[in-house]
Amino acid sequence: MGEFELIRQYFAAAACARAGGDVVLGIGDDCALLAVPPGEQLAISTDSLTVGVHFPDRCDPYLLGQRALAVSTSDLAGMGATPIGFTLALTLPSVDPDWLAEFTRGLETMAAGCAMRLIGGDTTRGPLSMTLTVFGRLPAGAALLRSGARPGDLLCVGGALGDAAGALPIVLGERPADSAQASALLRRYWSPQPQLALGQALRGRATAALDISDGLLADCAHIAGASGVALQIEQARLPFSDALLAVAGAERALQHALAGGDDYLLAFTLPSAELPSLLDEGWPVHVIGRVSAGDGVQLLDSNGSAVTVSHRGFNHFKT
Ligand code: ADP
Ligand code: MG
Repeated sequence: MGEFELIRQYFAAAACARAGGDVVLGIGDDCALLAVPPGEQLAISTDSLTVGVHFPDRCDPYLLGQRALAVSTSDLAGMGATPIGFTLALTLPSVDPDWLAEFTRGLETMAAGCAMRLIGGDTTRGPLSMTLTVFGRLPAGAALLRSGARPGDLLCVGGALGDAAGALPIVLGERPADSAQASALLRRYWSPQPQLALGQALRGRATAALDISDGLLADCAHIAGASGVALQIEQARLPFSDALLAVAGAERALQHALAGGDDYLLAFTLPSAELPSLLDEGWPVHVIGRVSAGDGVQLLDSNGSAVTVSHRGFNHFKT
């Protein structure tokens, strides 16, 4: 099977590759064409996933397709953007029809859940890797930036932390996968659900936001740095799932939440006056701390004393 036959059979034929919505022209020409409504801006983000770094060799291609699109689309959630579509630059060691069919099915599942369309890409031969670029749209000036947090704001997250990091030893085969709790954690690792609706609900309400990909402490440090403020996290307020507590125990659950990464939940700062309406509307908003003048991220124990943390999150090039 040649490159063009492969594109036609798997990607152009995928349910998520049909034009429509803001996609005027999809796969098949030199460029895709997107319609951006007047008064709106494009939000664009790229993520690369490489075998052995971001996912293990011989992992389930259906789950990999889901996860690749979820982690990329999560950046749109972090900006409060409405999804439009994505491109897929795929490097494959060989053409394996079963692998391609399952990978595409995983993409289709996540694309349907996120209202995303596959609009183009590139297909080359080499060690397995993929780069997804996602496109979304926003009313001009409404994006949730990292730089708007103000002293006095609340610091919040969109759900229970650390599940994906808790799943990693199971993904790598170092721990058994045969309990209901292990399955729950594995779902959070392989098919995280980008918090797109929450991100859109936070437009005009949150002062700063991002999606947590490298661990709570590392990502909160990005908000603190960009906003020129300090963030205090109260350890006792961190939300954990029962599954994580059962599988990892309380101490390791805390480590996973603080430094584990891969949660793909939103972290955001909020004037306290905005909290009641968000809770009334049923959004998953967990207050975990607050913003103050200063710099950096401090973790506080139940007495309000600073806790020292040794490992603060994932960084590819750190020595
Ligand atoms: P060009 O040579 O003009 O860059 P290609 O031959 O690489 O175009 O691709 C032909 C069409 O197929 C383009 O519309 C491109 O976006 C699309 N395409 C190529 N690879 C993929 C892929 N992996 N997923 C989705 N669309 C793809
Ligand atoms: Mg090309």
